[in-house]
Parts: sequence; structure tokens; C-alpha cells
Amino acid sequence: MSSFLELHDVGMSYHSMKGEIPALSHISFSVNEGEFVALVGPSGCGKSTLLNLIAGLLHPEQGNITIKGIPLHETNVSIGYMLQKDHLFEWRTVYENVILGLEIQKKMTPEHLSHTEQLLENYGLSSFRNARPSQLSGGMRQRAALIRTLALKPSLLLLDEPFSALDYQTRLTVSDDIGKIIRSEHKTALLVTHDISEAISMADRVIILTKSPASIKIILPIQLSIPERTPMKSRSAPEFSKYFNIIWKELNTFD
Ligand code: ADP
Ligand code: MG
Repeated sequence: MSSFLELHDVGMSYHSMKGEIPALSHISFSVNEGEFVALVGPSGCGKSTLLNLIAGLLHPEQGNITIKGIPLHETNVSIGYMLQKDHLFEWRTVYENVILGLEIQKKMTPEHLSHTEQLLENYGLSSFRNARPSQLSGGMRQRAALIRTLALKPSLLLLDEPFSALDYQTRLTVSDDIGKIIRSEHKTALLVTHDISEAISMADRVIILTKSPASIKIILPIQLSIPERTPMKSRSAPEFSKYFNIIWKELNTFD
């Protein structure tokens, strides 16, 4: 695996009427191609800010971000962003929703459309193509939102607490589902979550952030001795509780 995304000493503050609000401080880490990295940290510590910087929606005040060694704003790599709300439009069918990104970006080519068709087929939404979002379960809606993101063939997937709006049971199955899809599509992914179990069950490495302004506390590689690493099966790995305790302790000690 080669290094795909790199952050070097990234710092960022918000400037408001009340003054300067430091959000990120000296953040450096890298993500390898095909790797799944989770970011956990206290509420309000700067996780969404960090994803917005990587998405290119905000610019770092300090440091730099590169993709495959090229500064972020000079690359043409496609970055997919998935948020807590699925943002599916009720006035469009499921199919019309999943091709929305292609429409906006003028990428309705036969190649992209047949890829989207394949995604719908592979992930069980083909027969719901003419349904409205309200006819889908919460999990299926999230799957449709992921397919809409994957339709654009992003090289990097950013997920900001994508399961937070779901109840606990649904959350378990949906994170398993989405985790499997991301793995089978061999995507490089960065997931923000405040759920420790979710982070361990889905990620190859977990980055733990300090309270605001966020800096990196530790980066923890997750190695589970189970034959097949699906999010659900990971939860019963013998090492799971050890990792849970390490992360819990890190999140609850303030130095
Ligand atoms: P998290 O996603 O970890 O909950 P955020 O990145 O959303 O944290 O926010 C980090 C800090 O920056 C918080 O203190 C928040 O209040 C502040 N913040 C976020 N967005 C803005 C903004 N647009 N203007 C001013 N302050 C902001
Ligand atoms: Mg956030």
C-alpha cells in the first residue's frame, strides 16, 4: 500500500465576531490507498472541520494537505462526501437520486451510467429504482446515498457521522452493510464517528483526537484475529474489548 492522503502540520481557526476560535492544531497523518481510517474525538473538537479541509471546502491556515504528493487544490481526484443526513430528494425516484451527482457534474456517460446500474444491482436497490425515498427503510436510504456518492467513482470517501441519525439496531446493520460495500469497492475512506465500537469494527486504524482545538492524541492500528473482517464480525473478535478500553481511556483523560 502506498500513501494516498497526507496532512502535514495542519492548523485552522475560525474568525468570528467573538474573536478567534482555534479548531485544529498541528495535525499530521497519512492514509494509504485502500485504507479505512476512523477519526474519533469529543464533540466539537474539530472533526467536521478536518473533513471539510480534506474535501477542499475549507483551506488550512497552516500546513498542507496532499493527495498522491500533489497539493489538494491542484489535484483532480474525485472526493465523495457522505453526511449524517442522506439528503435524498423526495420529488425524485431512487434512481433519479443516485444519478443526481452525475447530472450535476455532467458525467452522464454510458460508462458512468452502467457503473451506477451495477452498483444498484450489486447492493440490492435495482428493484427500488422507481420508488420514492420515503418508501425505503433508514438503512436502504443510507445505501442509496452511498451509491449516489460511489456513482461518481470517488478516489477518496469522507464520511461524517453517517449513521448518527439511525437508532442503535439499525445503526449496527447499516454500518455493517456500508462497511462491506466500501471494502468490496476497495475505497480509501475516512470515517468520523463518536462511537468507539463503530470505529474499531470498521477501521484499519483509529485516530484519536484531543478536545478542541483538535490535535492527534494517538493513532491506533486495529488488528483483529478473525478470518473475515466485516464490521459485524469484528465486534466478536477477542481483541475488540482491549481496543475499546484503550480508546475509552484516551478519550476520557485530558492532559
Ligand atoms: P466536531 O465535528 O468535532 O463536533 P466541528 O469541526 O464542527 O467539531 O467544530 C469545531 C469547533 O469549531 C467548535 O468549537 C465549533 O463551535 C467551531 N466552529 C465550527 N464551524 C464554525 C464556523 N463556521 N464558525 C465559527 N466556529 C465554528
Ligand atoms: Mg461534526
